[in-house]
Amino acid sequence: MAFKPVDPKVNFPQLEKEILDWWYETGVVNKYLHKNDKSRKKFSFLDGPITANNPMGVQHGQGRTLKDLFQRYKNARGFKQRFQNGFDCQGLWLEVQEERDLGLNSKRDIETFGIEKFCRRCRDRVDKYSALQTDQSKRLGMFMDWEHSYYTMSETNNEYIWFFLKRCMEKGWLYEGVDSLPWCPRCGTAISQHELSDEGYKMVEHTSIYVKFRLKDDPKTSLLIWTTTPWTLAVNVAVAVNPATEYVKIHLSDYDEYLILAKNRLSVVTGDYVIKETFTGDRLIDKKYSGPFDELPAASKIEHRVIDWKDASDTEGSGLVHIAPGAGEEDFDLGQKFNLPVLAPLDEFGIYQSGYGGLSGKSALKVKDEIFCSLKEKGIFYKTEIVTHSYPHCWRCKQELVFRTTSEWFIRVSEIRPLMKKAAQMVNWLPLSAEKRMQDWLTNMGDWPISRRRYWGLALPIYKCGCGHLTVIGSKKELRELAINKTLVDQLPELHRPWIDDIQIHCPHCQLPVSRITEVGDCWLDAGIVPFSTVKYLEDKNYWQQWFPFEFITEYAGQVKLWFYATLFMSVALENTVPWKNVLVTGYIVDEKGEPMHKTKGNYIPFDEAAEKMGVDVMRWIYVSNNPFENIKFGFKMGDETRRRFHLMLWNIYNFFVTYANIDQFDPKFKTKDLKILDKWILARLSQIIDTVTLSLDKYDAQTASLSIEEFISDLSLWYVRRSRDRVGPTATDSNDKAVCHSILHCVLCTISLLLSPFTPYLSEEIYKNLTGAESVHLAEWPKTSKLSASSLKLITDIKVVRKIVEEGLSARKTAGIKVRQPLRQITVIGQSLSKDLTQLIKDELNIKQVIYQPGPKELSVSLDLNLDSQLIAEGQLRELIRSVQEVRKTMGAKINQPIRLFTRLPDDPEILKQLQRQTLAQEVISAEALRVELL
Ligand SMILES: [Zn+2]
Ligand SMILES: [Zn+2]
Repeated sequence: MAFKPVDPKVNFPQLEKEILDWWYETGVVNKYLHKNDKSRKKFSFLDGPITANNPMGVQHGQGRTLKDLFQRYKNARGFKQRFQNGFDCQGLWLEVQEERDLGLNSKRDIETFGIEKFCRRCRDRVDKYSALQTDQSKRLGMFMDWEHSYYTMSETNNEYIWFFLKRCMEKGWLYEGVDSLPWCPRCGTAISQHELSDEGYKMVEHTSIYVKFRLKDDPKTSLLIWTTTPWTLAVNVAVAVNPATEYVKIHLSDYDEYLILAKNRLSVVTGDYVIKETFTGDRLIDKKYSGPFDELPAASKIEHRVIDWKDASDTEGSGLVHIAPGAGEEDFDLGQKFNLPVLAPLDEFGIYQSGYGGLSGKSALKVKDEIFCSLKEKGIFYKTEIVTHSYPHCWRCKQELVFRTTSEWFIRVSEIRPLMKKAAQMVNWLPLSAEKRMQDWLTNMGDWPISRRRYWGLALPIYKCGCGHLTVIGSKKELRELAINKTLVDQLPELHRPWIDDIQIHCPHCQLPVSRITEVGDCWLDAGIVPFSTVKYLEDKNYWQQWFPFEFITEYAGQVKLWFYATLFMSVALENTVPWKNVLVTGYIVDEKGEPMHKTKGNYIPFDEAAEKMGVDVMRWIYVSNNPFENIKFGFKMGDETRRRFHLMLWNIYNFFVTYANIDQFDPKFKTKDLKILDKWILARLSQIIDTVTLSLDKYDAQTASLSIEEFISDLSLWYVRRSRDRVGPTATDSNDKAVCHSILHCVLCTISLLLSPFTPYLSEEIYKNLTGAESVHLAEWPKTSKLSASSLKLITDIKVVRKIVEEGLSARKTAGIKVRQPLRQITVIGQSLSKDLTQLIKDELNIKQVIYQPGPKELSVSLDLNLDSQLIAEGQLRELIRSVQEVRKTMGAKINQPIRLFTRLPDDPEILKQLQRQTLAQEVISAEALRVELL
């Protein structure tokens, strides 16, 4: 059998596209998905849903490659799997993108456009991008059950969340509460704490301001306060001081007035001053002062006072903290504690409501100058200062957030917190540091605000009756039972706004009609329920138990507080258990300089572009061979380097094998005998990496696995193939040895393609199919591991010693300026001795006649005899000559087995002449002054 010839100038992306079509046309994918249907072993993987919102970028490739890799590995090992892919379909990010595409700028615009039309557009968007992402994932080489992907917008998924919320209600966890929450004035909705984590903060410049609050009983003396959010001054209620901190009262010589501030913050004072008094903060507590905007109707009745707060810091600002309970999270909490009045000035778009004089009707984020102006007029402006600080932003629309006090729906966490903390300890976190992140988060998390004042999302099934009775609906069936008009329920096109808002229920308590609250749910409810909704928790407990808890999940680090949190929360709430056992938490994909990728920065790489230019096997290799826990630098330079270092090196070996195996008419059924030392060595190494790759993948460690393959390919190329060039092809004479060499390479390449099948599905397929004639590498079984014999282990160690000796010998040659083609007499090796075969290897590599071993200290050392005589010089010249002839043959385009007529100066030694003829395939050698070759 002849192998299909290999294109040495392979175009990997092109090759991949051909294989991709072939996979789906011939049903390989389907056979792969059902390969282990009857197996008793199960591998349960849960896919964290990708938001079906945009085309994929290269940052999506990493997680999806790892997901595919471990599923492929388990499939080759005979584990039955579900292969379910998931799409996240509801929520703010989807709405915001659709809003932008429609050119709408606010919720008012959406309502004018029509909620029904808008929600339909959101659904269309999901359809469009889930289809596109499916194609892109296929291109990435993922084999999933694409026909049965789950969608978080499905009726089933939404009903499952209803079920969960009803359960929370029964446990007494669901409540409507007032809180000061980070709020996006553009999206018109609260942003929860976990949405804020990581990406929610941006470094920005703000104008901070120092203001003088006059004491009521001593108007010549002011408290100096500092804030980075000037708009909140209009709702100031209190000033907090640290009772233990030292404060000073100073006299400002220029103005003849007094200021109070922390002693440590005197550096903020401009101009001359005299310290009049030093005292601790407790002396200030309960002092009354005039507020900065007492003239505004909303603020006029406030009695401003100083409160004590042990967290008030004197490391920034003035050490006196401005407190506005209606406009800040900590402020709100302090307000609760001290029973302070709450002024909630902003509407959902961040606009001052009535009662705020000239500020009313204006955006909180645009009134800085007016505020400054007003303070100056009142003579209480002290100074401004530009600060660069980390400030919360809407993670989807990038708008700067405000804090707004509103009424929202919450799930109380006090009861579930300790259970979640305990459950999270049962997990194998990779890396271990992720566990700490999760535990810290669980320790600090507040109640979960689940309501969003938006449109395209889970319809919260909450019905609040005027009589005070609260109904939470747990299923569509239940909704029908309570509905006033059951036909409306039967005719519901979907469980979404606006349709569901038309359905009223009878209050079970007073029988009056009740409407649904209009809010929709936090999208993390949608993704958090999937450990239940995707595996029939309610319909078929038996089935659910087969797959839950999930063996493995992987997502990037940002998901600790998002999807990991939400799935853990819901599993502990419903079953008091952890939903997954092994969690691989990856870093981020950044550009080649280490900068985060952003569309606006111009360093963002769309998935399609990378797939088209570098090919996905190269992309996958970058994802898997780097440390997954750290950020991975990704770019085209790296792609190029990776392709050369790994993919092309393997391709060249494959090309070498196919070319010579075809010339030598190698029969893969050949039974090997009389193996040479390097044959035994490469087989031992092969067996070693089967072991390493298997053990590493069992531990979800793709990096160790891929790097060990990479090292092996380098050994194979630099040692085995290079050393074997003379053993094959027309110049080689020993036919058994030819076949041995081919058969070893054949075995190695087939095994390597099996090991590579989860990593580089295309390249491995191409090689395996051609070399074995089998249907697909992805339908084959994983290579068996076997314990290495003591002699194999010794051989691997010995070859390391050989390589060390050769390395040192070559470096001695280099220092002396003697080329390897020039034979040398001998090398002395001190501290080690090696077998005859290995000694021969050293002789060949270093081109020396003799190796002398001497006992000595354990530390290996060598000394190379660099003296030349006439015999050695003559042999050196022959080598030079052969090399020149080979180069001429090559430039003339001679075939590998093409005979020639050679014109050259004849060597004196007949033995040397014979060698020259044999190695250049010269049928005749004719004496001539200049070297010339004729092809025959
Ligand atoms: Zn926003
Ligand atoms: Zn009622």
